[in-house]
Amino acid sequence: MTRFPRLLLLDRDGVLNEDRPASVRHRDDLALIPEAIAALAAYSRSGRAVALVTNQGILGRGHVSKAEFCAIQTKLITAIAAAGGRLVSVHIAPDARDGLSDRRKPGPGMLLEAMRQHRVSPAETLFIGDAVTDAEAAQAAAVAFRLVLTGKGRASAIARPELPAFATLAEALADLGASA
Ligand SMILES: [Mg+2]
Repeated sequence: MTRFPRLLLLDRDGVLNEDRPASVRHRDDLALIPEAIAALAAYSRSGRAVALVTNQGILGRGHVSKAEFCAIQTKLITAIAAAGGRLVSVHIAPDARDGLSDRRKPGPGMLLEAMRQHRVSPAETLFIGDAVTDAEAAQAAAVAFRLVLTGKGRASAIARPELPAFATLAEALADLGASA
């Protein structure tokens, strides 16, 4: 039976906002998924901890300024707050490519960092994302994983059919509630 995790980790692009092939480089390109923001907010309003874990190689590659990136994040955080929710922490890997550090997914670094910060064990943590690299990072951190079929999710489900998959973040979280 699934239990509410003490710490829920969420990927950003393709989960909370629409995935873009060239990444989100400007605040106007951040197309939030309203149902996902609402589901996250409702979940966090019940007092449960949610943290963001996101690769943003565009930072390391210089495709977005720090100021614009902050504006993009502010747009996201503001929308979550407007819906009544909050994130307990935000973890960003700016690495331009894989292998520069273990923070960039599929490395486990950001997940380990979040669990250390919030003093929870892998068994108390759940990661929800849309990419195969999210699943790999979860596995490397010994954390349970759920795939959402938004963003890259449908392609990820074809590549990794054994992953537990849910149509949307709302459905993934509703299932936690139903079985808690
Ligand atoms: Mg993603």
